[in-house]
Amino acid sequence: MFDKILISRCFLGDNVRYNSKVVTLAHPLIKLWLQQNRFIGICPEISGGLAVPREPAEIQHNSNEIITKSGINVSAQFNLGAQQALTLCQQHNIRFALLKESSPSCGSMIIYDGSFTNNKVVGQGVTSKLLTQHNINVFSENQLETLAKLLDKVQS
Ligand code: SF4
Repeated sequence: MFDKILISRCFLGDNVRYNSKVVTLAHPLIKLWLQQNRFIGICPEISGGLAVPREPAEIQHNSNEIITKSGINVSAQFNLGAQQALTLCQQHNIRFALLKESSPSCGSMIIYDGSFTNNKVVGQGVTSKLLTQHNINVFSENQLETLAKLLDKVQS
């Protein structure tokens, strides 16, 4: 049986993004992994109770709170979504996640800096961070080949 991969639902074309814009991740590896039935999808922000569309939110670097552009604290929803992603991984014995870069939930290397000015900094989203802390390997859409190599290694 193939290793399962936790995947950001927005990659699969689900209408879950904050601005309600559908952006499917089109790549031969995604097609292959779909055929292999590897994906378990989650949108942590929806699982945490937020709606589509929703206000953009960013992690505040000095407090680690997640605040929307108009100042609402949505940390509880983000943390709940992250916890649900972790539970899914544990239920399905998932060791690999493919999550959307730069998102305050899913970003694995880069996130917005909290100022809502489009500036990005090195950092992890809430879900990526929790998964990493539990030894789940998180990859972004920029690392598909790296993930493929690792999966091949595990499978062989
Ligand atoms: S929280 Fe993650 S899965 Fe949901 S829309 Fe944002 S990047 Fe996609």
